[in-house]
Amino acid sequence: MPIARRLTVIFSSMMCGVLLVGFLRGIFIGDLLRWRTARGTYFEIVTVPTQFRISAAKNWPIAQPFSWIHGAYPELSAAGAVGHHLMGIRTGLSSDSQSWRVNNNGTVGQVIVMTHAFPYPILIVLTAIPLLLSWISRRVLERRAAQRRERGLCVACGYDLRAAGERCSECGSAIQNAG
Ligand SMILES: [Zn+2]
Repeated sequence: MPIARRLTVIFSSMMCGVLLVGFLRGIFIGDLLRWRTARGTYFEIVTVPTQFRISAAKNWPIAQPFSWIHGAYPELSAAGAVGHHLMGIRTGLSSDSQSWRVNNNGTVGQVIVMTHAFPYPILIVLTAIPLLLSWISRRVLERRAAQRRERGLCVACGYDLRAAGERCSECGSAIQNAG
């Protein structure tokens, strides 16, 4: 297998596995990761059943060290995750935004939150496509090789070998006999 295809298959397998684990975990337990950068942007990754959501809020007024909260889905909502409040129970691939004014030590600012929701099933199917294509192409090549062996043709190039010796006289490959 060419190295690029092999890397694609490894990457797709890993992503597909991680998403599957996330999907299954999300059914039973919610996760909420949040932190604020030094430049005042608050980030939040939250899982809800069948979905994970990434939010970024500019001008977040309060400090937020990195934290990971996990718990049952409705209770996690009460933790104040902005990604929960924005989109309710919408389940598809979607984005939403909202903004509100804040008074930060006398300075009035505007918090702007963007949330993007990613459904696990769609991403799992997308990451599985390269694996499926790789499997199909391997099956096609195997079937072609088997047919060539049965018909007495060179497995490598399809040249008729019935009059040849140990190597294909067309491409030089060693002859693999049927059976
Ligand atoms: Zn050949």
